[in-house]
Amino acid sequence: VEHLVWLRNDLRHLDNPALHFAAKEARAQNTQLAVLITPTPAQWAEHNESDAKTGLRAGLIKTLAKTLAQLGIPVHFLEVDSFNQLPEAITQFCLSQQIKHLWFNRDLPVHEQQRDHAVCEQLAKHQIHAHVQAADLIVPEDVLSQQGTPFKVFTPFFNRWVTMLALQDTTPLESPEPQADPLPEPDVEFAWEKTFRDDLWPADQDTAKQKLWQFCHHKERHYQEARDYPIEPATSTLSPYLALGALGPRQCLEAIFYTCNQEEKRWQDSTWLKELAWRDFYRQLMMHFPFLSKHQPFKAETNALIWRNNDAEFQAWCEGKTGFPIVDAAMRQLNQTGWMHNRLRMVTASFFTKLMFADWRKGEAYFMSKLIDGEFAANNGGWQWSASTGCDAAPYFRVFNPTRQSQTYDKNGDFIRRFVPELANLDAKSIHDPKPSQRKQCGYPDPIIDYKTARQNAINAFDELKAG
Ligand code: FAD
Repeated sequence: VEHLVWLRNDLRHLDNPALHFAAKEARAQNTQLAVLITPTPAQWAEHNESDAKTGLRAGLIKTLAKTLAQLGIPVHFLEVDSFNQLPEAITQFCLSQQIKHLWFNRDLPVHEQQRDHAVCEQLAKHQIHAHVQAADLIVPEDVLSQQGTPFKVFTPFFNRWVTMLALQDTTPLESPEPQADPLPEPDVEFAWEKTFRDDLWPADQDTAKQKLWQFCHHKERHYQEARDYPIEPATSTLSPYLALGALGPRQCLEAIFYTCNQEEKRWQDSTWLKELAWRDFYRQLMMHFPFLSKHQPFKAETNALIWRNNDAEFQAWCEGKTGFPIVDAAMRQLNQTGWMHNRLRMVTASFFTKLMFADWRKGEAYFMSKLIDGEFAANNGGWQWSASTGCDAAPYFRVFNPTRQSQTYDKNGDFIRRFVPELANLDAKSIHDPKPSQRKQCGYPDPIIDYKTARQNAINAFDELKAG
């Protein structure tokens, strides 16, 4: 074997640049190609990866290994605990298999970049060439202002991003051509496998692709109006696949272009595309501002805030027992499925950082430990946005009123009924904020916080910060 493709958070055979180009090269040179997967369970645990995400990861790896076997591409597994062990382990593996070229797609988070750098350094000592491809961003180059600086505000970023995008060839790359006769179906088991909601997210990139096209055919045009209502199946729920790279962002683009073309509208105006731009935006922030990956707020002055960090409140929030039905329904959705609707991520994070006045880093970590789509850049971005510590964040005086959010976005209370069954019999009016007697009857807790006071306290704290 001459060429080896190292797969990490890019668990797909479609539109996978490293795999695609390595396969081409191998065929052109009439040499063999193999794939390497390096599970690092202890490292994932250190990164606070949820069981749900690890479970989906295991499932995706298995399906992918089968697809690759059909294409005559063998998959090797090299399991170590942590990233630190990889340079040595991979180099030894390459030497033992006579590998001359290692191909991989650039992984963006800081720790992953350090890992890759260390691996390349070690390989270079043995004249093994590393080929690095861009796969994870829609616009892979730095998106910079006219002054050459990274954008700190989304809208100007988006405008520049769209201009750059229009100049690119974004056609997804084909699956690699068969390299040899099909291999026997691999039968792999991992000690680190976890259960997850595979009824909601089948561990299979072809299903993910189908889901993408169905979404674009049927729902993309209603997305703008419907996306804020958690009871509606109006968003794509593709985030777990995007987070693990079972779906590439350019595949999403292809579907958006097609749909907009069919509907004779400009792709630049697609609201769904804008959400994918947010994904790029937060990833670019993470790359340009490495301190974000070190638990630092974007706005350094917010380090002076003194968070309340009440343990009992934290516990109630985690368990979905705050006494605010919409918050509790959301937290239970997270705990039960590994996913939470975007509107509710904002509601629960605002509740946490403003009303509980708890340190956003604790909320960020809890989300990460539960989310099936947990992903550093978007999660950190979302939390810092909610806490008003981030760039282009919510203004600090804009504190979500959970009851009002509930009345607006879950008007009939159906989402609450689904996840807080003890309130299922309440009418659409009282379910958002049950009376004390109703709470008692339903066995539902009293609010852990007085909204008005808590809101005022949070605003005061930020006001004081501003006054110095
Ligand atoms: P859709 O509405 O269909 O959007 C399509 C895709 O665009 C998503 O799958 C996602 O990849 C991307 N996207 C959408 N909104 C955002 C956004 N605000 N920021 C970045 N990317 C976005 N998203 C994650 O993927 N992982 C996280 O760990 C994560 N943590 C979050 C934490 C908080 C506090 C908040 C407010 C948001 C967070 N988000 C996170 C962003 C967003 O909530 C989810 O991406 C979205 O809910 C996923 O559902 P969907 O696939 O149906 O999204």
